[in-house]
Amino acid sequence: MSRAQNYINGKWVDGSLGTLDMINPSYGSKAGEIARSGKEDVDAAVKAARTAFEGDWGKTDAASRGRLLYNVAQLLEKHVDELAELESKDTGKPMKQARTDATLIARYFEFYAGAADKLHGDSIPFMNGYTVYSQRVPLGVTGHIIPWNYPLQMTGRTLAPALAAGNATVFKPAEDACLAVVCAFELIAEAGFPAGAVNLVTGLGEEAGAALANHPGIDHMAFTGSPEVGKLVMKNSADHIRPVLLELGGKSPQVVFNDADLDAAMPVIVNAIIQNAGQTCSAGSRLVIQKEIHDDVVDELIKRFNNINVGPADTDPDIGPIINKKQLKRVEQFVARAEEDGAAILAQAQKPEGKGYFYPPTLMGRVNNDSFIAQNEVFGPVLTVIPFEDEADAIRIANDVEYGLIAAVWTRDNGRAHRVADAITAGQVYINGYGAGGGVELPFGGMKKSGFGREKGFEALYDVTTVKTTIVNHGS
Ligand code: NAP
Ligand code: MG
Repeated sequence: MSRAQNYINGKWVDGSLGTLDMINPSYGSKAGEIARSGKEDVDAAVKAARTAFEGDWGKTDAASRGRLLYNVAQLLEKHVDELAELESKDTGKPMKQARTDATLIARYFEFYAGAADKLHGDSIPFMNGYTVYSQRVPLGVTGHIIPWNYPLQMTGRTLAPALAAGNATVFKPAEDACLAVVCAFELIAEAGFPAGAVNLVTGLGEEAGAALANHPGIDHMAFTGSPEVGKLVMKNSADHIRPVLLELGGKSPQVVFNDADLDAAMPVIVNAIIQNAGQTCSAGSRLVIQKEIHDDVVDELIKRFNNINVGPADTDPDIGPIINKKQLKRVEQFVARAEEDGAAILAQAQKPEGKGYFYPPTLMGRVNNDSFIAQNEVFGPVLTVIPFEDEADAIRIANDVEYGLIAAVWTRDNGRAHRVADAITAGQVYINGYGAGGGVELPFGGMKKSGFGREKGFEALYDVTTVKTTIVNHGS
């Protein structure tokens, strides 16, 4: 089935630059086609959004917006199987994970459906003779650019709060992962929104993405992806004086103390780096472990890493392929450079045969925290292990990176758990667990170079709204 069209102003239309092939990374084969769009298409989408915001959509009250979002959630839930299959084929996610992602996009729409009519302002005490109230008002037309690693989840994560708050949206997914997103839009199109409230433009980053990021008609840009493109998006937004939300990934530590419940920790530590083949902004990519238990934990991890089953997404593997050849090469280069810097491969799973873009889960020791691999986001299933002496040392190593997205502390000592969680600079800290950013209800976003702004939870609604204060002088 062709999914090679944009959704603009309530209609499915061709892209002005033709089409692009989508690739199934499990086999390196064609998975479908999407529309290739440029400035013309983005212009049309932004214009439609503006008209909707100033017209029917802008007049839709909060409860009605919530109902529309709830319609979307129900439609998505009904089509979880189809969405999961497309997501798996397009991105190489094992089916089990693709199903989780398909379920979560519905959950985002459900959560923000309920939140739409609960976003209220304040009444503010002021001088005698005045009544003052504030309102949370939408920003207008919001632009949304997401990467390829969690296309379905991120569609829900970025669009649902913006729509709940009453913004009109223009959305560009990543060129490598669109098929399930377009399918989700087919369902969004059925939900009953006024034309122009939700627009989809697919295509290349440097064409459709750049046109959206540069567009003067956008009032807020939400971007998730690499720091390089994030900077560009921010510079463009400076030219137009508008706010941005940046989610630029991480280098998240899992800090494990001697007294940790290792039976509980071990599978979580492994999963936090192999989930989605390590292509997760909040991957637990740095294991920071107390010296006394280092060797035992590493021995156990070696066994586990050697037994991870890598394969095409439709064969029910533990992990699937990397999204594309370029990213695969990037991961290979990271590991090669780490070895040149003195790190050692302690364990590596089997690489399957075939044309898929596979990288086997890899455990690396003898890693210096200043080295390239310890400081930069690999975006692949590569876990580095660094020992620490004591609590102060653990905190120092955990914080000694430019990123600050998430972290975990594993210990049975309650006081220490809170002290360390408190001292780590990150947007989310788990104690005795790790969620890889999970939980629609939980505010999520970066500190330091991981970016700023918050998605998820009620907090996301504050990023896509602003405060308007009305001062009424009625005399006393
Ligand atoms: P990227 O280039 O930053 O892509 C993110 C999004 O930006 C995609 O939709 C992309 O479109 C779009 N884009 C690209 N160039 C653009 C431009 N000039 N103007 C506006 N939008 C543009 O990331 P990537 O190349 O896919 O991945 C590179 C690295 O980024 C990864 O290895 C990883 O380290 C990091 N990353 C982080 C996250 C995260 O969740 N924080 C997610 C993905 C990647 P196209 O894809 O169509 O080009
Ligand atoms: Mg693909």
